[in-house]
Amino acid sequence: MLKKSLLLLATAFAITSSQAQMLPCASDQMRKKLLAEHPELLQIEADLEKQIQEGMRKIDFTKAAKTTFVDQSNNESFWYDIPIVVHIIHDYNPFSTSTFNGDFIPDDFVFESVKDWNTVFAKQNGDTIDVIPPFKKWVGNPRIRLHLATKDPMGNPTKGITRRRSYLTYTGGDQAKYDGWSNTSYINLWFINKMSVDHSEAAAYAYKPSAVTFIPFYDGVISLAGYMNNGSKTMNHELGHVLNLSHVWGDNNQPNIACGDDNVDDTPPTKGHNTTGCTSASIYDTVCSINYFKLYTDSLGNMELVNYPDTNNSQNIMDYTYCDKMFTKGQSKRMHLALNSDIGGRNMLWDSSNLVATGALAPFPDLKPIPDFTVTNVTGTSMLTKNANFAFPGKDVKFTSFTMNDTVTAMKWYFNDAAVPASTSITGFTHQFTDPGWVKLTMTATGNHTGDSTKSFEKALFVTEATGTPASGYFQEFTPSSDRDKWPMFNYYNNEFKWELADVGAYDGNCLKYNGYDNRVTAFSGPINGTPRGDFDDFFTLPMDLTGFGSACNLNFFYSGASRSASTASINDSLYIDYTINKGTAWISLAKLGKGDIFNKGAVTTAYTPAGTWDWAPKTIALPAPAITNYTTFRFRYRPGVSANEVTSSGNNFYMDRIHFSPWPAEVSSINAGATSVTIVPNPTMGDAYVVVNDAANTTVQLSVSDITGKVVYTTSQAIRGTQARIVIPASATTAKGIYLVQTLTGHQVNTQKLVVY
Ligand SMILES: [Zn+2]
Repeated sequence: MLKKSLLLLATAFAITSSQAQMLPCASDQMRKKLLAEHPELLQIEADLEKQIQEGMRKIDFTKAAKTTFVDQSNNESFWYDIPIVVHIIHDYNPFSTSTFNGDFIPDDFVFESVKDWNTVFAKQNGDTIDVIPPFKKWVGNPRIRLHLATKDPMGNPTKGITRRRSYLTYTGGDQAKYDGWSNTSYINLWFINKMSVDHSEAAAYAYKPSAVTFIPFYDGVISLAGYMNNGSKTMNHELGHVLNLSHVWGDNNQPNIACGDDNVDDTPPTKGHNTTGCTSASIYDTVCSINYFKLYTDSLGNMELVNYPDTNNSQNIMDYTYCDKMFTKGQSKRMHLALNSDIGGRNMLWDSSNLVATGALAPFPDLKPIPDFTVTNVTGTSMLTKNANFAFPGKDVKFTSFTMNDTVTAMKWYFNDAAVPASTSITGFTHQFTDPGWVKLTMTATGNHTGDSTKSFEKALFVTEATGTPASGYFQEFTPSSDRDKWPMFNYYNNEFKWELADVGAYDGNCLKYNGYDNRVTAFSGPINGTPRGDFDDFFTLPMDLTGFGSACNLNFFYSGASRSASTASINDSLYIDYTINKGTAWISLAKLGKGDIFNKGAVTTAYTPAGTWDWAPKTIALPAPAITNYTTFRFRYRPGVSANEVTSSGNNFYMDRIHFSPWPAEVSSINAGATSVTIVPNPTMGDAYVVVNDAANTTVQLSVSDITGKVVYTTSQAIRGTQARIVIPASATTAKGIYLVQTLTGHQVNTQKLVVY
């Protein structure tokens, strides 16, 4: 009969809200992964559970059952004050406090969110009024107060918020846990834009205290920025895990399958409820909890039966419903016991000396603003188009302030170029630049009552040339005397994976290197932050005038690269080559090179450097007709992949040199490979040189000699008699000492060799 009356009430709890669905939590998945690496985790979990069970035995549950909706299960009145730090891992995507999209969460939103988490941890959340009658008296008060730290681990003043730009905001996971502070002094909470594919369905996850033995540097909560505070109590759920609570159906990520338990007596056994769980059917689901009771021995040694609700507690914060409203008294007690255990060191968090060291109870400091900004030169929102600090003359460039740490009341932006007017906009401004080269920006931000702070950014923006450089005869060799400074490189995320100039291993003297090799080994061996997965780094060519070649034009270069891994499946590095013919309004894909395209040297397990020219290979990419304009700019974007361990790079160092444009290809056609041999004698030479070409398939050889600047100094053609042609390069054609490039063309086969004249 009791059940009947409950069913009548049930309609009141039908879904009435359009609140975002709570995505599942990946905590159990991450525990499983850790367990696979460290089977001894089970013993530590058992040790902690034993401590907690001993603690639970001291509670008079028979008394607890008689109390009403007022207080905790025992008479404790102690409040747990706990220092926390919020780490915002972002890519300057503004955060909307209405849609919860973005990742650059404002300080004020953090402050409001922490207040809301604390409301739930103090049982002050108003929605407990909607807890169904059977559970009213089991609503617990966790008596936990979280405090954003006012002192960082070095003792410096802080608002308990750190910010770091990283591509890992798009592929969040343990690797995105930058800037972690000691987990026995602070609870770390990281917020990101998206989870990685490994747990793409998850909104958040956390590690329980037992896991912390192995991975103290990953301890804490990681969550989508959008779940910091969207009404779903995600943080209370995850912090429940931090304090050793399980999901109400047990330690797995499969709700709605089998009856399970969480070792908490006043959360009846349940299958748990998935994201659609906020229905009367789940709130009054009795399938696992019919006739649920427990027997206890009271302080006088008498057995007493506590008749717990015969329906499951799907309004529990540790279920997956999005009508979660409560922790139970048993859960609150278990959290307290976890806070008193040295397993995981949670007992140190609320220790009075730690509260002093972290400034948890101290007044919030006033800190000066820290100026910061982004540049966007087109209105794009994709990774390919935004945040490119590469601008074209006469095109709008938008500067947006991402100044942090304080409310800004005034701002000044000024540039090294006096022709560029200063701006006093607090939020940002748009400007067109004309002078080519690097632009230095200085920002002075004034805090609401903390004064000014000024910061300069030497390479805020690169403005390229206004006219195209004739491509005919142009070679980019990256030598100091070249115009390589007009080919800017960008390491957007300021890490070790980047383009850089190199003079070791170069094809001839200098070259470009993508630093793709790193020394990190495996996950869980240390706080390895910054897996290269998701990173990308660019360099740009000058705008080129390609019209001098007619309709046939190739982008040619030499390259040398190796993979880190021998397994083809785990080589995911790629080089994207794009071009623009309209000053960056659109970038069009020319080629995406991967695996064998860029790794001509196969697998090399140590940091790769080419040993000589023989380690280099030519590459030719024919340009489509639309790319052949008098103002075409190319972008080379390297995207490092990850090895099977998902941490270290799968690629090794990658080298490029001698980038040029030509009606001829740089590479030997694979169709005819081997059919021709070309020999230059003598080489080096002081006078004439002879080029001997053996080719049985063709009748004519065309020959072209260019100097190191790409200027063609000699051309001729000659018939092949029998299978051989012998062509002279007269000394009069190579009067300057140095290196010449000798190209022969027979049929479709081009051969390029160096001739040294001394
Ligand atoms: Zn969870």
